[in-house]
Amino acid sequence: MKLTSLSSNLWSTTLISMNKNMIQRSLVLLKPDALDRGIVGEIITRFERVGASIVGLKLLVSEKDTAEKHYTEDLAQRRGEAVRNMMIEMLLSGPVVAMTVEGVEIVEVVRKMVGATEPKAAAPGTIRGDYSHVSFAHADEKGIGVFNLIHASSSPEEAEVEINVWFRPEELFNRDSSYTKFTVKK
Ligand code: ADP
Repeated sequence: MKLTSLSSNLWSTTLISMNKNMIQRSLVLLKPDALDRGIVGEIITRFERVGASIVGLKLLVSEKDTAEKHYTEDLAQRRGEAVRNMMIEMLLSGPVVAMTVEGVEIVEVVRKMVGATEPKAAAPGTIRGDYSHVSFAHADEKGIGVFNLIHASSSPEEAEVEINVWFRPEELFNRDSSYTKFTVKK
């Protein structure tokens, strides 16, 4: 075997195995404040614009049990029990849009697009930075959750758990998306 074809084979094998691991899914929730503001379409457009595939999408009013499974004890440990309780109440206060998006290393990409937790600190160009502005101090003074419009999974492992909280397997679709179509021939 010629060296060039050996290296091309190696490269294509590597590409294919990288591809398998690199295509991820992320759970995105448009929280009730996003629906109140009437910006659902604009937010979804941003994910479509970067080429992420929507593989699950629904409008629903969350069950208490679902909200508690979403904002788990982990949030209480990181931010305090009061914040967890406020956020569960907040999730239950109106309809939410639950989405599963798929793409190459999409968990990190979506988090980048969403921006920092505190809208005041979120960079312009991010969803939170462009559409919200409130601060932790303001939320604390009022005794309310920080209204920052959107939730996105913070790791592939968390995404797997969260997608299961919000979607049944039959509600998710396999898409033949552009990022999967062009493979290197052996
Ligand atoms: P993120 O949503 O950016 O992953 P966290 O998981 O830490 O952030 O927090 C979950 C949600 O709880 C945040 O999106 C925000 O709406 C709310 N939150 C976090 N910290 C506070 C706080 N100190 N006061 C009020 N609400 C908060």
